Amino acid sequence: GSTIGILGGGQLGRMLAVAAAELGFRCHIYCPDGESPAFDVAAARTVASYENEAALAAFAGSVDVITYEFENVPATTAEFLSDQVAVLPGVRALAASQDRLSEKELMRSLGIDVAPFAAVDSLNDLEAALERLGRPAILKTRRFGYDGKGQVKIMPGDDAAAAYEALGHRPAVLEGFISFAREVSALVVRGRGGETAVYDITENVHRNHILHTSTVPAAIRPETAAEARALGIRIAEALDYVGLLAVEMFLVEEGTSERLVVNEIAPRVHNSGHWTQDGAGASQFENHIRAIAGWPLADTRRHSDAVMTNLIGADADDWHALAAEPGARLHLYGKAESRPGRKMGHVNRISRKRG
Ligand code: ATP
Ligand code: MG
Ligand code: MG
Repeated sequence: GSTIGILGGGQLGRMLAVAAAELGFRCHIYCPDGESPAFDVAAARTVASYENEAALAAFAGSVDVITYEFENVPATTAEFLSDQVAVLPGVRALAASQDRLSEKELMRSLGIDVAPFAAVDSLNDLEAALERLGRPAILKTRRFGYDGKGQVKIMPGDDAAAAYEALGHRPAVLEGFISFAREVSALVVRGRGGETAVYDITENVHRNHILHTSTVPAAIRPETAAEARALGIRIAEALDYVGLLAVEMFLVEEGTSERLVVNEIAPRVHNSGHWTQDGAGASQFENHIRAIAGWPLADTRRHSDAVMTNLIGADADDWHALAAEPGARLHLYGKAESRPGRKMGHVNRISRKRG
């Protein structure tokens, strides 16, 4: 059989490796952190930094294709590896999504709505941007932000200098605040031959800046859902993407009409797609593996209604009750200790398809 290399060893890498194993692949996980949850289920592992060229070269030599499970793998690492073996979804998708400024510029070039934004490289830039975009606004670091880390909301009366200071004066973007009715995401998979499939649009609720629940069907109009799916495909095609792509969007209600604003994209399997493990013909993990391996894509159709709830920190302590709950499918990541804000697992509550 062939071997899939995965950069990153978190729970997404773990679930990818499990899905890959079911299709007969071996996985070699490369991650700088020796305590990573994906290592438990991997056939081979490398613990080394993303700058270690000797370790990267040996890794590339041991696998047939490489993918990544988080978008902060340095683009230079992906480029280095791609001289030896295919790196998918691709260096371009990785580079575009790890910098919020290039991400927004890409969306704009595709004619896709994003929040009004401005690049911020100095306090002067920030003050000018606040003048132009108004308040509230959200200042976000261009790189390395996740779960709401690396962002600060600026309200009327707030001190701009303090906000800039809070982000350590890092290169940032200021975004106008979007009064959204709900948040949704599109999960698109694109194969090596350019074929695409899309899962049903998912509705996402965040708590303390971390995804709390994802629900299908989403409470949106069929036309809006169709537009969200089409938009996801358009982005995947523009990036010549291979694998699973997640597109986070705001749904804005204006009178009786609905409008979509893209928040960010993730060039990987995504937390809002975990419901697909138990609610769709094939999971996002299986489809990502199939796509990068050049296999036919599998069924993305939803066969059930589903609510995915993340188990964060101590939420996972009560897993016995969840394991006993009818219709609940429990997924735990095997992390040794729970810490506040740490994703320990999730539960998919599945019911007969109504919507
Ligand atoms: P993730 O963990 O999804 O990668 P992140 O740290 O990259 O999160 P964003 O997705 O940009 O951050 O923002 C986190 C959340 O903050 C969004 O899901 C949304 O609820 C809120 N938010 C972000 N940008 C805006 C905006 N411009 N207007 C209104 N709310 C926003
Ligand atoms: Mg993000
Ligand atoms: Mg986000």
